[in-house]
Formats: sequence, structure tokens, C-alpha cells
Amino acid sequence: MGYDYDDQNVFAKILRGEIPNTTVLETDHSLAFRDINAQAPEHVLVIPKGPYVCFDHFAAEASAEEIVDFTRTIGDVAQALKVDLGYGGDGYRLLSNTGAHGVQEVPHLHIHLVAGRPLGRMLCRDQP
Ligand code: AMP
Repeated sequence: MGYDYDDQNVFAKILRGEIPNTTVLETDHSLAFRDINAQAPEHVLVIPKGPYVCFDHFAAEASAEEIVDFTRTIGDVAQALKVDLGYGGDGYRLLSNTGAHGVQEVPHLHIHLVAGRPLGRMLCRDQP
């Protein structure tokens, strides 16, 4: 049991500067960059800089400073894209695919922020 972080995953390589990214925001503990295969007019990934596999790993082991930084960065991205409700924006969706059933492709925690059009229902209703 426990979390086994693979430092060869693509987001670890982005954090080390080994492959390029289109940065939206960067802080001491977090990086936000555009998804290479956007599913909506706005599609940004927010990741912690620390080696966390997924959300439950981060929630269990990240420092309070990292958690605050990450949470604020997600909100700041929504503001930067002008989709936040505080600005009067039209809103957005956050999601974090986790593990096999969540169909997580990259094993480094990332929150997808998608926006820019009506996004439809969250899940299909034809399967429980
Ligand atoms: P998932 O792990 O299924 O939540 O999704 C991983 C996401 O990472 C997908 O939306 C990919 O399009 C995105 N992605 C993969 N490689 C890159 C990259 N080099 N730069 C930006 N986004 C990427």
C-alpha cells in the first residue's frame, strides 16, 4: 500500500523543464498550464510542484502551505480566464481523474479547469 510516484511522468518532465508548456500561472508550489488536447475553449491543468500521484495523496501528505497555494492557484486561474463568478463570468468545471476507474492518464495530481462553453451534464445517466 502507499503511493508510488513515477518521476518519469510527463508532468514531472514539464516541472523539470524537460518539455515545454504554455504556462498560465506559476507560484512557489503550483503550476497552471494549457492542456495540449483542449476539450473546451479554455482547458487548463493545475498541478502541485510536489511529487503527488493524485488528490488523496496530496490531501494526506502535502503541507498546509502547499494546499493553500494549490487551492488559491486554481481560483486565480479562474480569475485570469475571467470565468469566475466573482467577476461575473459564466463559470467552469473542475475535475481530477484518479486511478483506473477515474481513467487517470498522467500519474501526477492535476485539476482540469474547463470553461468557455456550456459543458453539459457531468456524467452520462445511462449507467449508475
Ligand atoms: P488525465 O490524466 O486523464 O486526467 O488527463 C491528462 C491530460 O494531460 C490530458 O487532458 C492530456 O491532453 C494532457 N496532457 C498530456 N501531455 C501533455 C502535455 N505535454 N502538455 C499539456 N497537457 C498534456
